[in-house]
Amino acid sequence: MVATRTTDVLIVGAGPTGLCASLLLSQQGIAHVLIERGEDVLQAPAAHVINTRTMEIFAQLGLPVEELYGLNRHPNAHKISWLATLQSPVLGEFDLLANPQSLAQMMASSNQHTTNISQHMLEQYLLEKARSFECADIRYGARWLGFVDDAMLVSAVAQSSDQANLHVHAKYLLAADGASSAVAKALNIRRTGPEAIATFINFSCAVDINKAVGGDDTGQPVNPNLLLWLLDPDLMGTVIVHDPKQLSVFMKLVSDDTTSADDYDDKETQALLSKVFGTDFQLQHKSLWRMTAQVAERFRHQHVFLVGDSAHRFPPTGGLGLNTGVGDVHNLVWKLAACLRDPQQQPLLETYEQERRPIALRSTDVSVNNNRKMEEVLFALGLDPSKAQLLQKIMSSALIRAMPKSAQKRIRAILVAPVRRRLALAAEDGSQGQAIRERTAKAIDDQEEHFNTIGLQLGSVYEPNVAIRASTEQMRQAEVSTYDPVACIGARLPHVALTPATDVTSTLDLLDYSRYTVLVNGLAEFDHHKLQTFGQAIKVLRLDDDLLLADRKTIEAAYELGAGEWLLVRPDGIIADRSAATV
Ligand SMILES: Cc1cc2nc3c(=O)[nH]c(=O)nc-3n(C[C@H](O)[C@H](O)[C@H](O)COP(=O)(O)OP(=O)(O)OC[C@H]3O[C@@H](n4cnc5c(N)ncnc54)[C@H](O)[C@@H]3O)c2cc1C
Repeated sequence: MVATRTTDVLIVGAGPTGLCASLLLSQQGIAHVLIERGEDVLQAPAAHVINTRTMEIFAQLGLPVEELYGLNRHPNAHKISWLATLQSPVLGEFDLLANPQSLAQMMASSNQHTTNISQHMLEQYLLEKARSFECADIRYGARWLGFVDDAMLVSAVAQSSDQANLHVHAKYLLAADGASSAVAKALNIRRTGPEAIATFINFSCAVDINKAVGGDDTGQPVNPNLLLWLLDPDLMGTVIVHDPKQLSVFMKLVSDDTTSADDYDDKETQALLSKVFGTDFQLQHKSLWRMTAQVAERFRHQHVFLVGDSAHRFPPTGGLGLNTGVGDVHNLVWKLAACLRDPQQQPLLETYEQERRPIALRSTDVSVNNNRKMEEVLFALGLDPSKAQLLQKIMSSALIRAMPKSAQKRIRAILVAPVRRRLALAAEDGSQGQAIRERTAKAIDDQEEHFNTIGLQLGSVYEPNVAIRASTEQMRQAEVSTYDPVACIGARLPHVALTPATDVTSTLDLLDYSRYTVLVNGLAEFDHHKLQTFGQAIKVLRLDDDLLLADRKTIEAAYELGAGEWLLVRPDGIIADRSAATV
């Protein structure tokens, strides 16, 4: 028997992108079905960096951000360290709090800030919120199988629990089905860029990281590390501390021909993790993943839109993947809402790919560059990263694996000895060690773009299109790590702090996702009906309204809004137009 369901939007995949899309659609009162092939939310984390722009989007969604910040289980994390093993001396570190200028810039640029929330906890939270809306029909254990020919889009879905088929008839489909998107494959949408840069196994463990780094649990301050890069050739990987008391992930580089996390059997896994943590731990989950850098050639096929990892996959160096997926659906959903209300607004949908693909391409470049630059730290320490891959390859070759374990051990010891010597040299107290560490510190200072992407998040400017008026002024694309707030057409409306008379603390809080907003400076007669808003309602805010009066001068200056001028802002916070294109 085939059950049929008709809806406005079908979302395939309940990762962070799909769940966020569901919340945005619900906020607009749009009926939708969300199908997820898994029986439950993710059990172990991948992402953890939830950046400022994503927090702004969550705030606009009406999510109580204090609850979200409360999900950060490692609020004092501010260090990234490089060391041979968890128990050996630190050879270099990056302190996220060390640069007062960057910190001041970040604080001034938004009323939100970057935080760390483990992806599985974020998904659980978003799911609970998404389920609270009546217009959301959320089904786990339902796999998207393919399109069925129909005038509207129809997708065939097999319910994995009882194998019954469900046909969903939808006007639009959002493919939020991740890096190996079946929807993109069915549409023959190709991706460009390398498919496999490196292969990793993530081991999620319940472990007390304080004990692991050699302390005990009596009165030791909590270890401030978010990431610990382990360089010993037997370990070669990263510890991501999600919760210093009880959750860390060890991300191990493995040979590219590894096909499953089970290639590491239980005995091998236990031995490896005992060596990493050197203290009690409990393995909770392990998974294999490949680092890629690919962007889909098209983000749209008729009424189907690729969003999140189905459209782009980056190396995690920069923490941009999840955040870009949230940005995608925030960009798209208000446009879908406009077209569902009025099919005449279809040209608006073309702007999704026009705006988001360049962001994905730039984010890919930044992430790849960050990944490459990490190698400079290794070079500074006298290590050659390509040899780590080679070592994995040699040790996993059929020839070596056919040898007795004792012979394998001897060969490995010979191959890794030079690396251990270099690490020992870098750790020694003498002048040679000192010089290596100074060189390493310089290479680490150069990693700013990896850990600070404020410019990329807040200062990216969309090119002119039907929803962004062309300006005669040159577009100013921000650098990755520096943000200079400019209210130019195509940019996110800069945050201006408001006198805290109410819970509205930023001009960003004035924006409404279901409407355009126009900020008007002192025009008695102002005909907002002439503005291009694609049939969307418009909220008119005057700088002399009670709400803004106290901050009028600051807003005028920040937005360069002279007397009689106005600024038109889209529901997603992008400046669509302004009366005098002075910036
Ligand atoms: C180690 C690591 C660390 C990372 N750290 C960060 C970070 O700090 N910050 C950051 O922004 N990003 C980070 N990322 C990237 C981030 O995890 C991804 O970008 C993010 O998960 C993408 O979300 P998504 O919803 O687009 O896709 P996914 O999370 O992959 O979700 C896709 C969903 O679709 C479902 N699905 C697939 N096929 C079907 C089908 N046929 N039918 C129904 N359902 C289907 C899947 O089961 C899955 O639940 C990291 C990644 C890794 C590996």
